[in-house]
Amino acid sequence: MQQIIIIGSGPAGFTAAIYAARAELSPVLFASQVEPGGELMNTTEVENFPGFPEGIQGPELMMQMQQQAERFGTQVVYDDVASVELQGDIKRVTASDGTVHEASTVIFATGSAYRKLGLPEEDRFSGHGLSWCATCDGFFFKEKTIAVVGGGDSAMEEATFLTRFASKVYVIHRRDSLRASKIMQQRAFDNEKIEFIWDSEVAAIHGESEVTGITLRSTADGTERDLALEGLFVAIGNDPRVHLVHGQLELTSEGTIAVEGRSSRTSLPGVFAAGDVVDPTYRQAITAAASGTTAALDAEHYLAARPTTVSADTEVTAPAAV
Ligand SMILES: Cc1cc2nc3c(=O)[nH]c(=O)nc-3n(C[C@H](O)[C@H](O)[C@H](O)COP(=O)(O)OP(=O)(O)OC[C@H]3O[C@@H](n4cnc5c(N)ncnc54)[C@H](O)[C@@H]3O)c2cc1C
Repeated sequence: MQQIIIIGSGPAGFTAAIYAARAELSPVLFASQVEPGGELMNTTEVENFPGFPEGIQGPELMMQMQQQAERFGTQVVYDDVASVELQGDIKRVTASDGTVHEASTVIFATGSAYRKLGLPEEDRFSGHGLSWCATCDGFFFKEKTIAVVGGGDSAMEEATFLTRFASKVYVIHRRDSLRASKIMQQRAFDNEKIEFIWDSEVAAIHGESEVTGITLRSTADGTERDLALEGLFVAIGNDPRVHLVHGQLELTSEGTIAVEGRSSRTSLPGVFAAGDVVDPTYRQAITAAASGTTAALDAEHYLAARPTTVSADTEVTAPAAV
C-alpha cells in the first residue's frame, strides 16, 4: 500500500510530488497516458514562472519539474486513473489498465480544461498566435491586431486586459447580446480599442507557422468572410476535471473541488486537492505549484497524525501536525 497517490502531472502534481518525496513518503504519481505534463505542454514560451529570467518553453519547464520529482524518489506512472474509491482509511485508485492501487492519502491535481472551439487546426496553432490565457500570453501581442472569442465576463475581462498590449481587439460573439455582467460589458463598450463582431463564430484559423487570420461565419445567415489577425484568444469557459470525484467529494458552485479555507483538505479525510481543479480564479502555473505544496504538507500532516498500530496491543500516535 502507498502512503500518497497523486493524480495529475501539471505544476500542482509535480510540486506535491517533490515535497512528498523529500518527506520520504515515496509518492506514486499518475501522469496520464494522453496528456502528461499538463496544460503547459500546449504552450511555447513561459515568461512569468520565477527563476527563468529569459523565459522557458512550457514542455521544458514540465520536464524539469518531473526530473526534480523523480530525483527524490517519485514513481511516475504513465496511465490515466479510471476510477477512485475515496471513503474509509484505505483509498483505492484504479488505473485504466485495470490495476488497483491502494493508498492512505490521495491528492487530486487533475487541472481544468479550457473549452476549445472544436476546429481541427486548434492544436497546431496553440502557442503560435492562439491562446486561452490573456494573463499568460497578452504580453506577446504588443501593437498587434487580435480577437477574443466569447461573450461572458471572462471574455470581457480578457478583451479589456488585452487592450494594454494590442492595438486593436475584436470581440467575436455568436449572439447579438452579451452574457457578461453590465459593468463588464460597459467597460468593454467604452474601450475604443475594442470592436464587437456580433452573430459570428470562427469557422477556420489560417496561417503557416503563426496565426495570420480567421474565417468568420455568420450565425444568422451562414455567410463567411475572412479577417486578418495576429492573435486569437478563446474565452468560452473552463471545465475543472472532476469527473473522477462526482458523488464522492463536495464541489463548489463553480464546479471546482471544494477545499477547507486555504488548505487542500476536501470533504473526505485523507483526500486533498490542488491546482486549477480547486481554483476558479487565478489558474497560473505558479499558483498551481504553490497549492501543490499545500497539498503535500496537508497529506504529510494527516499521515503523521494518524494512529500507527505497531503490534496487536500497542498503539503509537505520531506527533500532531504543526
Ligand atoms: C495554452 C496555455 C498557456 C498557458 N501559459 C501559461 C503561462 O505562460 N504561465 C502560467 O503561469 N500559466 C500558464 N497557463 C496556465 C497553466 O498552464 C495552468 O494554470 C497550470 O498548468 C495548472 O496546473 P495544474 O497542475 O493544476 O493542472 P494541469 O497543468 O492542467 O495538469 C493536470 C494534469 O492532470 C492530468 N489528469 C487529469 N485527469 C487525470 C486522470 N484521470 N488520470 C491521470 N492524469 C489526469 C491531465 O491530463 C494533466 O496532465 C497556460 C495555460 C494554457 C492552456
